[in-house]
Amino acid sequence: MIITIDGPVATGKSTIAKKLAQAIGYIFFDTGAMYRALTYGILKHQVDIDNSDQLKDFLDHFQFDIKVLRHERHYFFEGEDITQKIRGEEVTSAVSRVSAKKEVRDKLVSIQRELAVGVNAVFEGRDMGTVVFPDAALKVFLTGRKEVRAQRRYDELTTKYPEAAANLTLEKCLEEITKRDHYDSTREHSPLKQAEDAFVVDTSDLTIDEVVHKILEYRDSLKTKRSIAS
Ligand code: C5P
Repeated sequence: MIITIDGPVATGKSTIAKKLAQAIGYIFFDTGAMYRALTYGILKHQVDIDNSDQLKDFLDHFQFDIKVLRHERHYFFEGEDITQKIRGEEVTSAVSRVSAKKEVRDKLVSIQRELAVGVNAVFEGRDMGTVVFPDAALKVFLTGRKEVRAQRRYDELTTKYPEAAANLTLEKCLEEITKRDHYDSTREHSPLKQAEDAFVVDTSDLTIDEVVHKILEYRDSLKTKRSIAS
């Protein structure tokens, strides 16, 4: 069974998806990290994403690894641990432009669907409920006030990725969030948008546990509805 969690930047998607997955014994996938790992590769190899031959050649060979080390998920590209680097300014400012490319999306969507075969998983991202898993058993869309999200982003990056966040300020976070949300929701292919059948939660004034609790309650109410209907 697949559960999807979508929403704009810093609504708590990853933390909530991870906690929810732990609570119900599911695997959890952060698809933003996959777009970031791919963007890292593009920058490293100086691929011109507007040159379709160059992009195709890169995508044909692109792969990444995920390993769990000391209970934390680490991302590897060409043998290098890029977990910190993919949260840095360079990748963050390039990722939305790379993610807007149809060829890039086709590549990662096919990897994501492969990862979903035969497992129970929570997939977190931007287009999980609308494009990648339109038949997901449960779809969640998280929202939140921009100022709250900027503060969260700042706190998260400075604590978890201090190296990558060395020059970060709260103002920069707000600017980055606004820019990225705009780009992600207005792009031509798979823009960020709420699936019609998604359960919407505004996370601004809720703790992580409260959001997870709401999602679990919603899941239980769906189960009840489905058993009454059958
Ligand atoms: O979730 P995170 O902020 O790490 O995502 C980084 C970027 O990757 C997003 O701003 C978006 O451009 C892209 N993304 C996407 N589709 C997804 C997940 C992330 O386009 N499913």
